[in-house]
Amino acid sequence: MATHVRCGSLFTGAEDLARAGQTLVFDGAGRLSYVGPTDAAPRTAPGDGVLDYGGLFVMPGLQDVHTHLAYGNAKTEEDIDLYQPMEFRAIRGLFFAQKCLAAGYTSICAPGDAGQISLSVRNAIDYGLFDGPRVTAAGRYLTTRQGLTDWYPTWIGVPDTSIGRLVTSRDEAIEEIRVQVKNGVDCIKVALDGVQRRPDGEFIAAFNQGEIDAIVGEAHRLGRKVVVHARGREATLYAARAGVDLIFHAYYLDQECIDAILESGSVIGPTLTFPRNIVDFTRPTEPAYLKGRIADVQREYQTACENLRKARAAGIPMMTGSDSGFAVTPYGEWHAREIEIFVNDLGFTPAAALRAATGVTAGFMAKGASLGILEPGRAADFIAVAGSPLESVAILQDRTCIRHVHIAGKRVEVPERGYDPRQVTDQAWTNWNDLYTRERVAELGIRPGRRNLVAQPS
Ligand SMILES: [Zn+2]
Repeated sequence: MATHVRCGSLFTGAEDLARAGQTLVFDGAGRLSYVGPTDAAPRTAPGDGVLDYGGLFVMPGLQDVHTHLAYGNAKTEEDIDLYQPMEFRAIRGLFFAQKCLAAGYTSICAPGDAGQISLSVRNAIDYGLFDGPRVTAAGRYLTTRQGLTDWYPTWIGVPDTSIGRLVTSRDEAIEEIRVQVKNGVDCIKVALDGVQRRPDGEFIAAFNQGEIDAIVGEAHRLGRKVVVHARGREATLYAARAGVDLIFHAYYLDQECIDAILESGSVIGPTLTFPRNIVDFTRPTEPAYLKGRIADVQREYQTACENLRKARAAGIPMMTGSDSGFAVTPYGEWHAREIEIFVNDLGFTPAAALRAATGVTAGFMAKGASLGILEPGRAADFIAVAGSPLESVAILQDRTCIRHVHIAGKRVEVPERGYDPRQVTDQAWTNWNDLYTRERVAELGIRPGRRNLVAQPS
């Protein structure tokens, strides 16, 4: 039994334009068997289904290569690492994965999560227990004392429930890769730099060149891709020289990095939505603002866009990702903002940005060769949109425009269900945002004693 989809206009992702008068046909296994003009389409046989999407823009399902399923829309690193049991985080991850799907994202990569959470969510969906996006799963980040995810002081260390796995030697890194591969990850995530800088301000790479070479060598030998967090120039350069498959951020890359990336064939996932949302949403009363982080992020964003435009001009492919899972990037809300940023700040045409968010980004996903483009033989993962994203990519952020989401042919509907973040995520023990000196209290116009707490004897 086949299903025929009549499309108002069809953007297959294989070319830069959308065509009118097109039909998709997919079989009972959810595989496309025909994509082309309705005139030349196979006739419907008895028992075939027909979907009339004549008023809609049909395109491949969107791909987000940077969504952390286990973070839970966290406000602090402690929320991510400490408070909720792993089992709860997995159930929560499944709930949030469905929010991504409802936003039109039929594939996500979860590049770095605690325990076996992402691969368990992936399996529960793959085995047909729940509806959800296709998940490409990593395990814990490999990190060092200089890397992201080793947040806490050395006398606390990196807890077992953390998103990081602190490796203290090359052998330990290799052993961790072997463990993760045995457990079934699709890719290995490395914190190749973090927050530590040299006195001159340059980000320090967390692993040296020999170490990252060994990590990439072993992961590739075991048939797994490698994705790294590399904000700084040094980590970006080491990653490229080591042949890392996907480099996140690369904000301070220079010509030497560009040459090395072109040589290795690495791809960049800028993930600009996260810093952009930090700048746009953080309010003056919030700790990130009070610590002066917003001005820093703003400067970094500008530098990043300048550098990434050069990388793009040099021909380096880019993948879309949002770093969803933080309080500024809640699941299902901002994934497609990255597409708009590609257009507005990196100089992509709308068509090029849509192709980045579909076929190009699918290139990193598990079984990616069967995803991302609508053509016979590939999976029938597609969305039907009210309006044309080729005219305005911003409409992809408007959930009311995402009318239908199909994954392997099946139309999925995710029930709208809210949740209370105080129960689900926010467990950190932050109690105050201000310091109540006598001067500050006077400045705020608070009169101590104004609240009468003890009833006076009459
Ligand atoms: Zn991330």
